[in-house]
Amino acid sequence: MKNIYKYFIPTENIVARGGLTDVAALLPPYCKIVLLVTGKNSARKFGYTDIIIDSLKSAGINTIVFDKVEEDPSIETADTAAKIALKNNCNTVIGLGGGSALDAAKAAAIGGATGISIEKLLEMKEKPMEKLFFVAVPTTAGTGSEATQYSLLSNKEKNTKLNLATENSFPDIALLDAELTVSMPVNLTRNTGVDALAHAIEGYLTTRANPFTDILAESAITTVAENIHKVINNPNDISAREKMLIASNIAGRVIAHTGTSACHALGYYLTLVNGLPHGLANAVLLGKIVKWVSKFSPGKVEVIERILKNNVEDFMKTLNIDVSLSNYNLTDDDLINMANIAAGRSSTKATPGSPSANQLVELLK
Ligand code: NAP
Ligand code: ZN
Repeated sequence: MKNIYKYFIPTENIVARGGLTDVAALLPPYCKIVLLVTGKNSARKFGYTDIIIDSLKSAGINTIVFDKVEEDPSIETADTAAKIALKNNCNTVIGLGGGSALDAAKAAAIGGATGISIEKLLEMKEKPMEKLFFVAVPTTAGTGSEATQYSLLSNKEKNTKLNLATENSFPDIALLDAELTVSMPVNLTRNTGVDALAHAIEGYLTTRANPFTDILAESAITTVAENIHKVINNPNDISAREKMLIASNIAGRVIAHTGTSACHALGYYLTLVNGLPHGLANAVLLGKIVKWVSKFSPGKVEVIERILKNNVEDFMKTLNIDVSLSNYNLTDDDLINMANIAAGRSSTKATPGSPSANQLVELLK
């Protein structure tokens, strides 16, 4: 079949301020032992872990907590979580946190159902479809991981990320509780917000875009443009927080279909080698990639600039983001390595004009 567009998101999305207190009500009756996968500090510090444990306990459900997920989680961390699920006969995984916790939880739900190590699963061409019942609860508004099938796991030896995904690895339920995002400090709010913007823009510009994803991407770009300054200037603006969470979710649906672009492909290196947070890495690179794409897809770039009322780099400057790569301690070798790794990724090949490693180095200068 030619020219067939597909839009497939099996996740049930629930938007409920304060909904975490009633998380047990979201689980089907057979969920009796839950593995809660979360980060090292914030979920405990802000009381979210206890809210989940209390809700599940009052419904007669046991919770096993795995709170060891680091930022940009490794394959080993996800594998440890999966083995804990197996050992304790968990039939449900709840991922709570930023994209790191959600991605590790997603992998644990697959490893915990199949009994296959995460390393092996990543290598398999035909991956099994099983996964444990999986609920994703984002506490940042940026990655949209609760709306995607992707679990991005860091390969720290190769300075890149591997993606564990199957047609069935979307969360069963995504709980969008904006109250959980209010505790984000300003930098995290900004870095995660621009990640959502990057997903929407990259998905809009990639050669894998389709009419469904275009409409979603334009809506996500608009919602971020209207709300990101509000949540930075007034962190308690719950209505703007909720809009950012929804924009992040919609941008996640876009990349679930389109993937990202050369921007994310390059950004993984900036994160793993130079320590830039995921969203900030994309914010620094996005304008440069959009400029490259404008040679091939000028009409779409015009739409983006009309919505942002700026070009992408100038929009980032309104958020006080320094977009000069020269200010982030990159050596010439870093630039070449980063470009070489990114050039091999399918998301770079799907970027209009399919930039080669040399062309990536040029556009980064
Ligand atoms: P993150 O790495 O999950 O978290 C960053 C920091 O924010 C952590 O220190 C975390 O603390 C803290 N934090 C999280 N929620 C908070 C809250 N409500 N209040 C205060 N602090 C909070 O950041 P992220 O940008 O959300 O996720 C980035 C990861 O997502 C990367 O690994 C990236 O590759 C992945 N990603 C996945 C997809 C996908 O489709 N699957 C898409 C884009 C990005 P704790 O560690 O203590 O929790
Ligand atoms: Zn991202």
